[in-house]
Amino acid sequence: MANEPDNLGVHLLKSVFGFSAFRPYQEDIIKAICRGEDVFAVMPTGGGKSLCYQFPAVVLEGVCVVISPLLSLMKDQVDSARETGLRAATINSTTSASEYGNALGAMQRKELDLLYISPERFNSPGFVEKLLNNTISFFAIDEAHCISEWGHQFRPDYLQLGRIAELFPGTPIAAFTATATDRVAADIKSRLGLRHPFEIRASFDRPNLDYTVLRKDDLNRQLLDFLKTADGQPGIIYRGTRKKVEETALMLKKHGISALPYHAGMTTEERNAVQESFTYDRVQVVVATIAFGMGIDKPNVRFVIHGDLPKNIEGYYQETGRAGRDGAPARCLLLFGYQDVLLQNSFIEKYEDPQTREVTRAQLKQMIRYAESDECRRKAILRYFGEEYPNENCGHCDYCRGAIKHVDATVDAQKALSAMQRTGNRFGIGHLVDVLVGAKTERIRKFAHDALPTYGVGKDKPKKYWHFLFNALICKGAARMRPDTDYPIPQTAELGFGILRGSETFELIDFAPTETKKRPAKKTRSRGARGTAAARRYAADSGDSDLFDVLRRRRTEIAAAYHIPPYRIFSDSTLLDMAERKPMTLDELLQVSGVGEYKMERYGQDFLDAIAEYIAESPGEEELP
Ligand code: ADP
Ligand code: ZN
Repeated sequence: MANEPDNLGVHLLKSVFGFSAFRPYQEDIIKAICRGEDVFAVMPTGGGKSLCYQFPAVVLEGVCVVISPLLSLMKDQVDSARETGLRAATINSTTSASEYGNALGAMQRKELDLLYISPERFNSPGFVEKLLNNTISFFAIDEAHCISEWGHQFRPDYLQLGRIAELFPGTPIAAFTATATDRVAADIKSRLGLRHPFEIRASFDRPNLDYTVLRKDDLNRQLLDFLKTADGQPGIIYRGTRKKVEETALMLKKHGISALPYHAGMTTEERNAVQESFTYDRVQVVVATIAFGMGIDKPNVRFVIHGDLPKNIEGYYQETGRAGRDGAPARCLLLFGYQDVLLQNSFIEKYEDPQTREVTRAQLKQMIRYAESDECRRKAILRYFGEEYPNENCGHCDYCRGAIKHVDATVDAQKALSAMQRTGNRFGIGHLVDVLVGAKTERIRKFAHDALPTYGVGKDKPKKYWHFLFNALICKGAARMRPDTDYPIPQTAELGFGILRGSETFELIDFAPTETKKRPAKKTRSRGARGTAAARRYAADSGDSDLFDVLRRRRTEIAAAYHIPPYRIFSDSTLLDMAERKPMTLDELLQVSGVGEYKMERYGQDFLDAIAEYIAESPGEEELP
């Protein structure tokens, strides 16, 4: 078959898309579409869905009609397809009459590979007739879960897409989604009327994402420490409330970090402006509530931090999934404190509907179990999504790095509980901590608590440790808040008495300490040294993280000149590969992953110049082993 991608597959993949190998399942999906079969593909964010339909769109005769739910996404996809040299157009509610005419004209002249439309457009009168008069190679339905009422993003307009199979009986339909529940999957297949589709369920594993959980004890300090290791690269910090978002953004700005807040309390214009600044790499960090989500298609998000405990694992995974869509290494950090658990529990208790209460409580429990888990983070997450991770050690989580220890905290728990008992279960955590560390406060003098045997027995540990421990004791049922007062006053509970008697033990997780290592300053970098571990994690063992910085800066300059987002020129993973290979000629540049012919012609020389300058400035570099 002339259209089978085997013949021209790898060549086309390289020359048009710039990639030297397919990602898992891409080739199978492309082949199925080329054979004329329907496709149902569940792939995680960043799995490379676009290529699955863009590739056959180039190979097959006629135009591929892509249905996509969000205007912003559609625009981004069309722009990026064009930047790859594909012939793409969009028709949606914002399309002007002349653009509309151009798109239809190009389609009629068979000069269009991809036509992106909104579901509303498909439903508008007369549009189907226009499509029927042209050769449609296949339909690609992006975010196909929008057709399901069971999904979390149901769009009534998607329901009409069920007509495609009737109206275009001989035309394949390829449906893509990153939502995996069986119910939604079944719904998608039946509503679209897929005909014995070729089905793919890709792993939800995102091997380039690194997961870490740290004990949240000094959030601001921890964020600043983390950002020191981020090399100015873009990232998102999620916080639980608008107020916290504002506070953190302000705190970061005060420390000279380029950061903007994003939450639903801001006007649409304000939010769009933030999103655009982020897209164009004009701001490094967006501090946001979960309102910042749908529509962030920025592939070079290098970290996602959760400053507060997410409500459930689905949400957590979706949010962290916004990191590293380009396949280059990215970090996900969760700052976990038992105080957040108590706070969320208090919200849950306020739900009127008992079922909602039960569901959210169960979800929160799973989230806590994840944070405290005594196994690989990746394994834990994937199991949650019904997948068994096969490897012993994933190599990219705090557990697999050996950074997590379960420590026996029975003695500390006894100290804390005894402080509670000896003060009559009548004081808040702040005061109890003061007693333990032997603080000299007025209250302590007033109640003569400095005369207690527990006074000062916890001097060897910082206050924040004891706060963490108290909250852990409450969360695990060794203590509980007194029900007879509105003040947050803990009292010993059953498990706590067992701990005091010595018949029960109390375990605590010792999370990895915050990574504070900085990259060495440029000037002092020794020859051949490849940066610190932290820098290397970013540079994906790619060798030269300094050159990577140089290339990033060049990319920003070019992007500004063309008024396009930097990532659209080349992805971070492409720049990493470039920094590793240090190509000197256009031919060598073409070997770099992500460099196709179109982009090479457009931007190639600029990057070759940057590499040549860099090498000239660091003599001897190349001869080093
Ligand atoms: P999805 O829509 O599934 O979230 P995308 O289609 O946006 O993912 O692809 C994610 C990233 O992976 C993009 O930067 C894309 O260029 C890159 N990519 C896709 N296929 C390949 C491949 N075969 N090799 C290398 N990178 C790829
Ligand atoms: Zn692991």
